[in-house]
Amino acid sequence: MQGGVIPKLYGVLYGRKHDKSPVLCLVLERFGNRLQGEFRHLDASKKAKILNKLVEAHHGGLLHLDFAERNVVEKDGDFRIIDLRHAQNHPECRWTYDFEKHIGDSTVADDDPTVRCSALMRHAEEMEFWDHGVVYLCRVIIVPKNDKLPDQSVIEQLDTSVGIGTCTNYHPNDLATLAVRYFEEMKARLDEGAKLKDLIRLRPQITYQIHKRWHEEQKIDFIPSDQWDYSGRRSLKLLTC
Ligand SMILES: [Zn+2]
Repeated sequence: MQGGVIPKLYGVLYGRKHDKSPVLCLVLERFGNRLQGEFRHLDASKKAKILNKLVEAHHGGLLHLDFAERNVVEKDGDFRIIDLRHAQNHPECRWTYDFEKHIGDSTVADDDPTVRCSALMRHAEEMEFWDHGVVYLCRVIIVPKNDKLPDQSVIEQLDTSVGIGTCTNYHPNDLATLAVRYFEEMKARLDEGAKLKDLIRLRPQITYQIHKRWHEEQKIDFIPSDQWDYSGRRSLKLLTC
């Protein structure tokens, strides 16, 4: 497992400080840097690589118990798992599912005989390895995946707020409609050749326009909160009408 799943251990040094208190030092292979950001924002191939490392650890009898972004290091597209201070013995893990052979799969059946380890299943779900045919808009609105919406990784980068009118109590269905319209607008712009970095910059204006149009349709006055008020700016024409 050393040098493949966890960094190599070169030795243990033991000594005493000036005040004679004992000090122990692990000398480990230097391997890259800790992951930045959340697991769920990684692309599917990186998620698969990391999860397969965890599977190897399980097959080596190791239950990590503190598996988190801060305990994964990356170098040149490869990964190692670190910090085994909470690890416990994990005899005979029955997981045989190979994540790298299932990149892009939407789901796996609960009774699939290759996924019989609750800990690995939980980590894969937390990492959002399978999307289960849905996307999350604005973090909490769940809708079926379809061609009019961007991929989840793009959705995360174009995150916005919905329900920005200060005098309106939006029903959850209205918030979902606004979120879908906003992301459909973004997808239409991407399909027309807009650059993602430009759309990231335009998020507040597009959010404003999507709300403004919805309020006009519903004949409900629209008074956005200050940070979202783009009424003084040149109107930005929406592609999706
Ligand atoms: Zn296991």
